[in-house]
Amino acid sequence: MDYKEIIDNLRVESVIELMKRLGADRYVEKDNCIIFPTICHNIDISSASMKLYFYKDRKIFMCYTECDTMSIFKFLKTYYETRNIEYDWYEDIYKVILDCSNFRQADGFAPTKYESLKDKYEKKRKDVKLEIYPENIVDTFVKFYPVEWLRDGIERKTMDKFNIRFSISQNKIVIPHYDINNNLVGIRGRALNPWEVENVGKYMPIQLEGKWYKHPLSLNLYGLNKTKENIKKYGICYVGEAEKFVLQCESFSFLNCSVAVCGSQFNKYQLNLLMKYCQPREIVICFDKEEKEGEHKYFDKLMKICEKYKNYCNFSFVYDRENLIGMKDSPSDRGEEIFKKLIERRVSVK
Ligand SMILES: [Zn+2]
Repeated sequence: MDYKEIIDNLRVESVIELMKRLGADRYVEKDNCIIFPTICHNIDISSASMKLYFYKDRKIFMCYTECDTMSIFKFLKTYYETRNIEYDWYEDIYKVILDCSNFRQADGFAPTKYESLKDKYEKKRKDVKLEIYPENIVDTFVKFYPVEWLRDGIERKTMDKFNIRFSISQNKIVIPHYDINNNLVGIRGRALNPWEVENVGKYMPIQLEGKWYKHPLSLNLYGLNKTKENIKKYGICYVGEAEKFVLQCESFSFLNCSVAVCGSQFNKYQLNLLMKYCQPREIVICFDKEEKEGEHKYFDKLMKICEKYKNYCNFSFVYDRENLIGMKDSPSDRGEEIFKKLIERRVSVK
């Protein structure tokens, strides 16, 4: 089934149940919609206004205060990101939504991890291990250099080196993920279909013949299998968000010392990977630009990540004060010269 079908088959009563478990303490049911507090962009639910509508016919959310139209996929992503919750697309978005639809696998709605928000925050991933997939799965996909990436400064030889492929049937750039020892641990896709990008997301695991080639992103660092020797040699590591960051850095004139977290969190497990295998002297957080004019929420978030781990390594972060890059841009998006300028002006955390 495709994502559109899942959205069309959402059960209204399951959506209400999900919202309750996410903390919505009240709702109003009308003929054509259900009205919830705006838990999408408000952490403090009790003070959130009743401006989040779920329309029964089109099965979409509309936040009249801030977030605008959202599919349920986009709503959950916003909900987690508002709270800085580290989430797994397959476990915490896809499966939750499937359980709210007529395609639900279990009888009744029982994703126990949503019993309380507190559980969700404290959820430990200690017992989760990376599964190793057979390498030849990647050969199911064709070799093809998408113009979207060539235009963004990713070279053909880089795509070869990182084994980038293409899925014609899914219209996706295929990105194999390897652990530090070059084992295939997951395959992610970059969607190119505009409806999918808007309503489901840009990056998600690939599904092939009913099997998801997913992995917990928090237990790996994309690119480390290729860049570990450089990081060790130069004593520095640039930590970006998306896989594209690592691929763009590969075309710069200096050796690639980057990795990607494939999200917007950096955790202890990932720090341990770097310290165990590369012992860098400095780790530079190079996340996408998010700060709104006149705010400092994003600055504080980056500062907090660095402060948390500064006893293990020197930490710094890229923070663009001069509009060298646009909103949502990665520090590598505008080429080598801009990247170097951003690095020169990075904020050191002492
Ligand atoms: Zn909102």
